Amino acid sequence: MKAIVLSGVGRVEIREVPRPSIQAADDVLLRTAVAGLCGSDLHYYIADRVGGEAVPYPVIGGHEVSALVEAVGSAVTRMRPGDRVAVEPSISCGTCDQCRAGRPHTCRSIKFLGHPGDKDGGLAEFVVLPERNLLPIPDAMTMTEAMMAEPLSIALHALRLGGANPGPAIAVLGTGPIGLCVVLCLQAAGVRDIYVTDKSEARAQAALKAGAAWSGNPDRQDVVREILDRRPLGMDAVYEVSGDPAAVEQAIQLIKPGGRITLIGIPLEERIAYPTAVARRKEIAFYNVRRQNRCLERALLLIEGKHIDVSWLVSHAFAPDEAPHAFKVVAERRDGVLKAAVDFSL
Ligand SMILES: [Zn+2]
Ligand SMILES: [Zn+2]
Repeated sequence: MKAIVLSGVGRVEIREVPRPSIQAADDVLLRTAVAGLCGSDLHYYIADRVGGEAVPYPVIGGHEVSALVEAVGSAVTRMRPGDRVAVEPSISCGTCDQCRAGRPHTCRSIKFLGHPGDKDGGLAEFVVLPERNLLPIPDAMTMTEAMMAEPLSIALHALRLGGANPGPAIAVLGTGPIGLCVVLCLQAAGVRDIYVTDKSEARAQAALKAGAAWSGNPDRQDVVREILDRRPLGMDAVYEVSGDPAAVEQAIQLIKPGGRITLIGIPLEERIAYPTAVARRKEIAFYNVRRQNRCLERALLLIEGKHIDVSWLVSHAFAPDEAPHAFKVVAERRDGVLKAAVDFSL
């Protein structure tokens, strides 16, 4: 089968690799329909170290996947060949302390689709996953929408940590695809006073379209002062989605005393520093987000019910052979790209 292989920093190759096969009785062989390019896939393209660990190239990434069932194992009961599915990319054991505590996303022996060293990802024609990782999608849902349920689920999980009942003024720092999903979720939850920042004009415009009331560019203006001019008491919640250490500091300046800062962005740096005195005096709570915990089904329901429209976030669709170009476009944020995806039907 054809696979999109990261062979080193800045190197993307289309390779012929063996097709994965059904091993366990509950395995399902899937034919990939659409695979999104995520910021984490980009990390392995931009840097050969992530989170303090060396990237074990070659890597087949891709965990934002919609697919068609091609074949099923002998114990599979819910799926049939031809079924259209959304994919939960995280395979947890179900028996460790974390799984038993309702935290399968921090499972002690977690395997994540497209995570180097765990399992080859969906940036390939075929992938095998257990039946329990697949959610059927309705006929009316597009494969692109089904793929977007995964990034949307990250935003839903973050909102659950950052406050299910958010206050009237909220900042979202960084409006790439996940930041935009956070804005869409806040908007759907009835929050109207949403302040966003991003260094890309296309992303700032998209955030306003998604429902933000104000957007600013930290390269060109003092975003903290401008937001606090409008809201002198500060933000009730701040979502940091850029991974930029400067934004973490901005979040600390923006948040109200007693407020929550939810860290979703993945910094390239292994360590970041922040002003402890301000954080302590305000008694700020920091929530770190690890992917998501069982939010995929809700994401699909919100998309299906047209409560949240994610389809327009996919600004660029590429054929598999165009993948080297696709990575470049996303890494360099060319052509006003928001979310890029590889569409295996192209
Ligand atoms: Zn992702
Ligand atoms: Zn577990």
